[in-house]
This record gives sequence, C-alpha cells and structure tokens, in this order.
Amino acid sequence: MKKAFITGITGQDGAYLSKLLLEKGYEVHGGVRRISQPDTPRLDKLGVTRDVQLHDFDLSEMNNIYRTIEKIKVDEFYNLAAQSFVGSSWDLPIYAADTNGVGVVRILDCLRNFAPETRFYQASTSEMFGLVQEVPQSETTRLYPRSPYGVAKVYGHYITMNYRESFGMHASSGILFNHESPLRGKEFVTRKITLALAALARGGDAPVVLGNLDAKRDWGFAGDYVRGMWLMLQQEKADDYVLATGVTTPIRDFVIFAAEALGMDLAWDGEGVTETATDRKTGKRVVEISEKFFRPAEVDLLIGDAGKARENLGWTPEVDVRQLAEMMAKSDYDDLG
Ligand code: NDP
Ligand code: GDP
Repeated sequence: MKKAFITGITGQDGAYLSKLLLEKGYEVHGGVRRISQPDTPRLDKLGVTRDVQLHDFDLSEMNNIYRTIEKIKVDEFYNLAAQSFVGSSWDLPIYAADTNGVGVVRILDCLRNFAPETRFYQASTSEMFGLVQEVPQSETTRLYPRSPYGVAKVYGHYITMNYRESFGMHASSGILFNHESPLRGKEFVTRKITLALAALARGGDAPVVLGNLDAKRDWGFAGDYVRGMWLMLQQEKADDYVLATGVTTPIRDFVIFAAEALGMDLAWDGEGVTETATDRKTGKRVVEISEKFFRPAEVDLLIGDAGKARENLGWTPEVDVRQLAEMMAKSDYDDLG
C-alpha cells in the first residue's frame, strides 16, 4: 500500500486529493494547523474524514516539519498548504513569504535529510506569470508576479527545481491555473458569486458586491487538477507542468453562467463602479460594484498552455467553465435548502 502526506489537507485541493488517493488504495496522512475551532468541513463533505490520518502541522514551524517527516515515512508528499488568497497577501506579505516561500524549503530540506526517496509535489501557480510575458503561458514563460502571494510562490517554485537539480530529488512543481469547485474558499470570486446568487434564488435580497468584472481567469475544476498532481508524481522523472483549460473567461461571464444555472435572466446597466445587474424575472438587484474589491495590481491575461501535461501525462480537463459555474451554483443552492 502506498503512503502519501498532504499538507493543506483541510483545503479545497487537499480534500479532492485525499479522495482520489484513497480511491487508489493509498494510506493518506494529512497536516492540519492548530486553530481554536478545529473542524474539517471539506473532508466531511467528500465523506473521507474518517479514512485519513491527521497530524499537527504548520509550515512556519521548522521543528514540527522536521519531526513529522522523520516520523511518518511516505512515498509521496504533496505540499498544498499556503496562505492561498491573493487579495489578502498585500496585508500579510511577510506571512505569505514565510508560508508560501520559506515553508517549501523547510519541507524540502527535511525530506533531503530524512526521506530523499520521497516524491515531492509543490503547488505552484499561474499567479507567478502576473504581468504576462507571453500568451498563452507555458512552463518556459518568464515569470513576473504581481502580488506578494505570487512573489512568494516564485521562490517555492525555484527552490523545488533547485532541490531537484542539486540533490537529484524527485521534486515536481505544478503550475496550476485557477481551479474551483463547490469546496472553493468563500472569498474567491467564483464561490462568492455562486453563494450569493444561490441565496438570492432561495428568496434572499442581498446582491453580490464585486470588484473588477473585466478581469479574466482560466478556470478549471479542482477534481481534474488533483488528478494532474498525482500523475506528475507517477512519472519516472520529476518535472514542472502547467495545468490549465486554455480558455479564459471574464468575471462578468461567470456571473451570467451561474445566474442562468439558477434560472435568472440578467439585465446589465451602467459601467465601472456604477455597473449593476438585475434579474428581469424578479426585478431583484443581483450585482453591484465596489472599489473595495479592486486590487492594487492585477495579473494580466492568464491563459494556460497545458500541452506538455497533455503529452507527457495524458492529462486533460473534463469540466468546462460553464459546467463548473452550474455545479457550484447548484451545490450552494442545495446546501441552502
Ligand atoms: P485552500 O486555501 O483551500 O487551502 C489551503 C490549505 O493550507 C488549508 O488546508 C490551510 O489550512 C492550509 N494552511 C494555510 N496556512 C498554513 C500553515 N501556515 N501551515 C499549515 N497549513 C496551512 O487552497 P487550495 O486548496 O485552493 O489550494 C491548494 C494549493 O494550491 C495552495 O498552495 C494554493 O496556493 C495553490 N494553488 C491554488 C490554486 C487554485 O485555484 N485553487 C491555483 C494555483 C495554486 P486551514 O484549513 O487551517 O486554513
Ligand atoms: P485569484 O486569481 O487567486 O486572485 O482568485 P480570485 O477568485 O480571488 O480573483 C480572481 C479575479 O476576480 C481577480 O482578478 C479579482 O480582481 C477579480 N474579482 C472581482 N471582484 C472580486 C471579488 O469581489 N472578490 C475576489 N476575490 N475577486 C474579485
């Protein structure tokens, strides 16, 4: 039986990856940081909480990482933990650097000492492309991060490559474009939209207040992306791979897809911060804009080229953005029932 350790097991990807690995017969261990109200809603939702073994784990505590890796020997180690919300990283730049950057080398260095044969996956991100230097972006595109989150992830990415090259470790970095699901954090724009629209469809009257509707993202489904992570660690040689759909969609269109899934028919009016959307059927205000949700700096046109993953891993995403919006909107609607 193969063994795996997942940092960030309580997060969106941690839950989907746990489910996938359990289905494949793995013994799954996961790192959970200490918080005042411990619970595992995402693992609960996928019905896997009792099947995984949870351990205290914090990326900022070297001794804790050292003891964990010394004690629990695994075949595969997936580092999914991070301060993952870009928007907060301007308020928490040092914390972002410590967890998303230095945290990675803490793990790698312990693996190097105690478990050099363990295969390692690092959760890198399309945010590293930031002010994009070419469209679409691939593994060879020059990095130009635009947030403290992205800057810290660049360090994590390069130190993963460096440990692979310096010590021959099987360390791979997945440069993943945005991936969402009904388990996505509520502050991310997709989930914020589907939760608010589901509440409106259930009789509520609070519109969703958003920032830049013209920003675009290459959105895929988290379930497809964790399959790509696993595939990376099954290869004979470690490498870096982009996972993306290759389709980019404005925030405004995601709102429309979610609204349609909930039977709304939106009428748009105004522009910039005065733009609004109203449901023609009920007359309810569905979208408003506030300066508060605009960012100090935006990433540019993110579109991924996942050709290398398609060729080497046989990976392709199965859920498109419209299906994703529908899946999320319906799940939130059902949960509110
Ligand atoms: P989530 O925010 O859902 O999960 C992050 C996880 O990290 C949570 O389990 C969280 O614990 C844990 N965590 C945060 N800080 C620490 C810490 N100091 N020590 C230990 N654990 C910590 O993120 P996702 O599942 O969406 O993303 C997984 C990874 O992939 C992240 O590294 C993210 O940056 C990266 N990524 C995600 C993309 C996406 O679109 N989802 C795109 C590209 C990269 P807790 O539950 O206690 O908060
Ligand atoms: P990110 O790509 O990891 O930053 O994912 P987010 O879902 O947080 O943001 C995606 C895009 O949506 C960014 O370009 C934001 O500027 C834009 N956006 C517009 N309105 C909002 C909002 O209200 N909340 C969030 N989180 N993002 C918003």
